[in-house]
Amino acid sequence: MFAYIDPAVKRELLIKKKLFYLDVEGRPCTSAGPRAAPFLSMVGPIALPLQVGRIERTFQWYAWVRNSDLTRIERIVDEIRESGPQKLFSMLSSFMAVNSALLYGDFARAKQPLVRVHSCCLTGDVFGSMRCDCGPQFQAATRRIVRAGAGAIVYMAGHEGRGIGLWAKAITYLLQDAGHDTYQANERLGLPADSRDFSDAARVINYFRGPGSRVRLLANNPLKRQALEAAGIVVVEQVPVVAGISGYNARYLQAKRRHGHLIDAEALKHQPRQAGPRRSRLSGRARSD
Ligand SMILES: [Zn+2]
Repeated sequence: MFAYIDPAVKRELLIKKKLFYLDVEGRPCTSAGPRAAPFLSMVGPIALPLQVGRIERTFQWYAWVRNSDLTRIERIVDEIRESGPQKLFSMLSSFMAVNSALLYGDFARAKQPLVRVHSCCLTGDVFGSMRCDCGPQFQAATRRIVRAGAGAIVYMAGHEGRGIGLWAKAITYLLQDAGHDTYQANERLGLPADSRDFSDAARVINYFRGPGSRVRLLANNPLKRQALEAAGIVVVEQVPVVAGISGYNARYLQAKRRHGHLIDAEALKHQPRQAGPRRSRLSGRARSD
């Protein structure tokens, strides 16, 4: 849907190999021919200087979007019909979102490089909201990758609110203020607690590193590890990223901890107290933790 490029510019980018296609296994493929099966369209590398702490480091940025044509859209409709609404959000966002990979150092050849698969969070990553830990996690992951000398951040733009999108996430914040935890709030809206699809992230890591790639995963969430391993990536170590804990997000992180996230209980203690969640008419089933 967003993959349209002016034909003249497209030709030029293809010649320069700055625009290319990956098949469903994350292998390079062409866009034409009887056996062509482009699954992702990707542009890059694009030099992106980042401020990492107090130093500047240049990452190589790649952006990708799912290749969409009429046949594929017909297939999506069939898949939604077969798999039901649980899959609807991940499918819609998978085809709407333009995702990114930020590569640092020699990511392709580094031995067991650090990888962070980061779910987009406008409020945390951009606004600096302390209701969650996303912004500090992103910054901490970037610093660790620079310190290690090589690595990648795979930024999933369609993963806002664990896949439900920014609008629904805003409403879940109101439900959280009324006493629900972050998972219950999604479910109260009739939405999945987590509908993220990590398969494209795995495809792109496979493209850069080759199949069966060995990485160290910067993540607290065990489901991210499972999803990448299911897609053939060997996670030799899961490295927790605990950063930005405050009285504003301690309860949110406790809920994540109950869902298996690798967050040390000690790190959640002794946080400055925040005014407790206010109950409102939004929630008839509010409960406190
Ligand atoms: Zn967040």
